[in-house]
Amino acid sequence: MKRSTQVIHAGTERDPYGSVTTPVSRSGTSGFASVDEAGLFASEPDLYGYTRLGNPANAALERRMAALEGAGDCVVTASGIGAISTVMWTFLKPGDHLLADTALHGDTHALFAHALTRFGIEVDGVDFNDVDRVRDALKANTAIVYFGSPCNPTLKVNDIAALSALAHTHHPHVRVVVDNTFATPYLQNPLALGANLVVHSTTKYLGGHGDGVGGCICGTKADVARLRFDGIGHATGAAMAPDTAYLVLRGIATLSVRMERHCDNAAKLARYLAGSPHVARVHYPGLAADPGHAVAVTQMRAPGGMVALELAGSFEQAKAFVNGLKLIRIAVSPGGVESLIEHPASMTHAHARLAPDERPAAGIAPTLVRVSVGIEDVDDLIGDFDQAFRAMGD
Ligand SMILES: *Cc1c(COP(=O)(O)O)cnc(C)c1O
Repeated sequence: MKRSTQVIHAGTERDPYGSVTTPVSRSGTSGFASVDEAGLFASEPDLYGYTRLGNPANAALERRMAALEGAGDCVVTASGIGAISTVMWTFLKPGDHLLADTALHGDTHALFAHALTRFGIEVDGVDFNDVDRVRDALKANTAIVYFGSPCNPTLKVNDIAALSALAHTHHPHVRVVVDNTFATPYLQNPLALGANLVVHSTTKYLGGHGDGVGGCICGTKADVARLRFDGIGHATGAAMAPDTAYLVLRGIATLSVRMERHCDNAAKLARYLAGSPHVARVHYPGLAADPGHAVAVTQMRAPGGMVALELAGSFEQAKAFVNGLKLIRIAVSPGGVESLIEHPASMTHAHARLAPDERPAAGIAPTLVRVSVGIEDVDDLIGDFDQAFRAMGD
């Protein structure tokens, strides 16, 4: 099956009623034929003894995501952070080393730098575009190498094949974990490039309509079994609700048409911004001048629907500009049909998540704003930027 067929059909099974959409069982637990059968449910995903470990709607989404990522298996989680924390609590132990990129989603940074370190995990962050620094930072106890691409919120592109090869050369047992939320499996497949695990916040493009917080992890059958039964089972409990699985399955059905439009609109907006005197820098891997362009064309089918920019001006002027937009709403969770904007230095990467002295290394400039480019008519989006720039004066 081709990708745009897979997003609609992969993982669906015929139920006794011939339902065309996935039925949702809200039952938290299922009855068994015998005590012996019941004894197996905590190790057999298809027995559906308890929804924290498995549910038919969740299983349908897991099959679809495994197919889209080319993975042996997938487990869905309560949120993207639930997916990332489940990976960490399953595969790390005190004394292990986690090596992560400095450009991270704000709460992911907080989990690594402020939470895991309290439990005897060594955490280092370096710029993963600097391969020599990554090589130097790998240690004998490195268990996980973690990064995204393109990164949230800076749109930095990391070379998944090169970084995976480097980590595995250092130690074949290192798990390379890639956050593929911004690219989606429609545009990029990290496992095919050498990564061991892929995490997603399904809250974003996969759900696509801003109405269900969720996540998932794709990897080998053996790793996913550990993530499900040890990780979610005993360590985090971060299980997805079946109603959310239904919403995400429905969202994924239109992923191909949505992503095509997100990409078209983002490319046009990025070109417009690159020509604006109010913009000091545009971060978009589709622009030939972007430092991530060369790698993006080798590992992504298209550069995606997110654009970041640094405004010419001060921190206060950047806030005033964002406040001046009328159609594009100020909101944090990207990847939906509607365009949204956020100012990381005062929103997602502010306060306790990222201390001011941690921000420069993470690429969080005072005037950086991130635009999640929706699927509206792009002329209306450019028109909104135009009026907000005019309101700033010259
Ligand atoms: C949103 C996001 C997360 C966290 O996901 P939640 O569903 O909000 O918990 C992690 N990584 C990236 C890249 C994200 O955009």
